[in-house]
Amino acid sequence: MPEVYNWHLGRPMAYRFDAGNTQRQFAAVFNINRCIGCQTCTMACKSTWTYSPGQELMWWNNVETKPYGSYPQDWDVRILDLLDEANGGKQVWDAGTTEPVRAPYGRFDGKTIFEAADGQQEQVLGYLPHEDQWKGPNSFEDHATGAPSRGVSLPVHKGWFFYLQRLCNHCTYPGCLAACPRNAIYKRPEDGIVLVDQERCRGYRKCVEACPYKKTMYRPTTGTTEKCIGCYPRIEGSDPLTDGVPTETRCMSACVGKIRMQSLVRTEPDGTWTPDPANPIYYLVHEEQVALPLYPQFGTQPNVYYMPPRWAPREYLRQMFGPGVDQAIERYMYPSRRLRALLQLFRASRKIVFAFDVIEGPRFAEFVIDGRPVELFNDTVVGYDSQGNEIVRVSVDEPIYERPGKLNSI
Ligand code: SF4
Ligand code: SF4
Repeated sequence: MPEVYNWHLGRPMAYRFDAGNTQRQFAAVFNINRCIGCQTCTMACKSTWTYSPGQELMWWNNVETKPYGSYPQDWDVRILDLLDEANGGKQVWDAGTTEPVRAPYGRFDGKTIFEAADGQQEQVLGYLPHEDQWKGPNSFEDHATGAPSRGVSLPVHKGWFFYLQRLCNHCTYPGCLAACPRNAIYKRPEDGIVLVDQERCRGYRKCVEACPYKKTMYRPTTGTTEKCIGCYPRIEGSDPLTDGVPTETRCMSACVGKIRMQSLVRTEPDGTWTPDPANPIYYLVHEEQVALPLYPQFGTQPNVYYMPPRWAPREYLRQMFGPGVDQAIERYMYPSRRLRALLQLFRASRKIVFAFDVIEGPRFAEFVIDGRPVELFNDTVVGYDSQGNEIVRVSVDEPIYERPGKLNSI
């Protein structure tokens, strides 16, 4: 099997194909701390792409309540158990030595879903969910674990839950693509979006078995597999509603909680990201390291990153997002001046921001949190499109509009 470099694991990894030639990669950051679980993103996707016969159980975007919620049911527990069985007791990280671009989380020497497979009968370790397990996309919604405590306090709540927003990660090393015996799945070099060629697909469901995130879904009316297409006409700017410029996906641009930031990052031939601190996703993932991949130990190098919830138990979060959790939460709770400004840019524009800049403004507040002095500056963050044109400008101190005392006629 060829070897590729996986920077999430901080090491080379066996994979069925060479690294490929992706020049830009679809990538996003979700701030879990801000999500209100409204499911607007879920319905925006559903009403755009999966409203037809045979797609009733398909939710390309879903938001599940952790720790009990999962779609399909128990997807992550099942794959974590299989990996543990294949490599019992060795699924641990060595976070002692890190390197910002090539090994920001240290090194993971446990087996990935590719290395735990036998390489002959199967290319990827996985399982096929039972049909019933796709039927409850929001089961256990808003269910907390433990006894909800009165008068909650940080750092960790006694009773807790959080929302996990999920869609295809358009992985750098997709499990679905590696498993397909028909080579019907491909990754586009211009944006890294992973697509299923509906002409070639014969519905063997090897991809459904292999995707560890369970984001490929079988459609019985066509006998083929379908999955999130990254709203590629919007990314290309070829959709009539985009004014010809790269525009965010439906789920991102509909987000009420303003938790989502999307961009395309530049990539090197070995799958690492070209250093580009002006790109908002590069900045959040590599410079601040405040956003982390979901289950990096699976080995697919997923491209959706999460800012972990600060109130959930750290051990649970470390299994889910790797060893960078404590630092990411610390940096989110006490943000740098530049990060605080960038957080204002989330969902400030439907057009995709390829670069940002911060213009420093005057200090407007100071106070103490947890014994630490905090100063707030009214900085302005500016977002630019793929051509370097300004598309959005937001200040840290949000303007307040007071309603006039006189009520209107309603
Ligand atoms: S999340 Fe699953 S469906 Fe999406 S690219 Fe990765 S392996 Fe394939
Ligand atoms: S639209 Fe945004 S805030 Fe609402 S559930 Fe989806 S990610 Fe969360």
